[in-house]
Amino acid sequence: MDPAAPVLVTGGSGYVASWLVRYLLEDGHTVRATVRDPQKKKGLEHLHALAEAHPGRLTLHRAELLEPGSYTEAMAGCELVMHTASPFLIGKVRDPQKQLVSPALEGTRNVLTSVNETESVKRVVLTSSVVAICGDNIDMVGKDQFTEDDWNTTSSLDHQPYPYSKTVAEREAWDIAGAQDRWDLVTIHPGLVLGPSLTTASKSGTFRTMGSFTDFSQAAGAPPLEMGVVDVRDVARAHIAAGFTPAAHGRYITNSETMSMLDIGKALRAKFGYRPSFPLMEAPKAAIWLAAPVAGLTREFVKLNVGYPLRFDNSRTVAELGITFRPGAESVTEHFQQMIDDGLVRG
Ligand code: NAP
Repeated sequence: MDPAAPVLVTGGSGYVASWLVRYLLEDGHTVRATVRDPQKKKGLEHLHALAEAHPGRLTLHRAELLEPGSYTEAMAGCELVMHTASPFLIGKVRDPQKQLVSPALEGTRNVLTSVNETESVKRVVLTSSVVAICGDNIDMVGKDQFTEDDWNTTSSLDHQPYPYSKTVAEREAWDIAGAQDRWDLVTIHPGLVLGPSLTTASKSGTFRTMGSFTDFSQAAGAPPLEMGVVDVRDVARAHIAAGFTPAAHGRYITNSETMSMLDIGKALRAKFGYRPSFPLMEAPKAAIWLAAPVAGLTREFVKLNVGYPLRFDNSRTVAELGITFRPGAESVTEHFQQMIDDGLVRG
C-alpha cells in the first residue's frame, strides 16, 4: 500500500467517517471523501475546516449509493477504499427496503463494481457491524460470546431491518471480493458507536440512543437491554489499521465492552450528577413490552432482546489491529460533554 496514494472514504461527512477522515489527514494521507451534496451549506463545516487545516489533502466528491458508477471518478488512483456510507436508522422505519436495504446492498454493489473497474485499488475496508454477527440478543443462548465466525441469520425486512441491511450488504461484499483476486476485503464490526461527534448534522442511530438520556423517555426506568459499545475514535483507528496492516484479513469485531442502558445512565450520573432524564433503575420487561409501540420498538424486538446478556470477543482486533479500546463509560461521558458543548443539552 503506497501511503502517498489517496484514500477514498465513502459517506465522508458521517459520524464515524468524519473521525476516519480526520485521523487519515493527521497521519499524513491524502483523502477523497464522498458526500451526497458537496455544495450544501450545512453539515460539511467540519470537513471544510479539516481541508483548510491540511491544505491540498482533502477533497469532497459528489456520490450517491443508488447511482451505478457514482464512485468511479473519485476512486481513480486510490489503493485503499473505506466504504462507510450506509444509513443507520433505528426505531420505526416506514419503508425498510427503500430506506435501509436498497442503499446498503445496492450501494455496496455499486462501490465494489467501481472497485473492480479501478485497477489501482488493492484493499477495501467495509464498515459492517456487530449486527451482521448477531441479530437478537437471544441468539447468544448456549454461547459464551459471539466471535467473527458468527453470522446474523435471524433478521429480515420485517424484523430488525437495520441489522438485515448490514448483513445482506456484507454478504454481497464477500461474494464480490471472492470472485476476483486483485483486491482484498477487510470488514470492521463496531458495536454501538459512542463518543464525541465532529458534526451535529448526522442522522446516525447513535444520536437517537443518546437522545433517550435527555428526552425523559427512560425517566421511569431503563429497558434491561445490553449492547456492545465502542468509542468512535477507536472505530476510526481500527479502519486505518485494517487498511494499512498488510496481514489484516477477514472480519474484526470492533467492540469495547457490553453496557446496559442503566450502565450508561450510571456512567452519566457519576460524571454529570443527578438529572431526571438519567434512569435510576431498570423497568420490568413486561412494562417495556407494553410500552414498546409508543417507543418505536416492536414487541418481537422486546421479546427477543430485552433481558438477555450479550458478549462479543474483540481479541482479534486487539491482537491483529493493535487497538486498545477506551472503556465505555469514557465514551459515554465524552459524548454527553460534546452534546453540552454543541448546545444540544444544557450544561
Ligand atoms: P451516519 O453519520 O448517518 O453516516 C452514514 C453516512 O452514509 C452519511 O455520510 C450519509 O450521508 C451516507 N449515506 C446514507 N445514505 C446514502 C445514500 N443514499 N447515498 C450516499 N450516501 C449515503 O452514521 P454512522 O453512525 O457514522 O454510520 C457509518 C457506518 O457505520 C454505517 O455503515 C453504519 O452502518 C456503521 N455502523 C454504525 C454504528 C453506530 O453505532 N453509529 C455501529 C456499527 C456500524 P448524508 O450525510 O448525506 O446523510
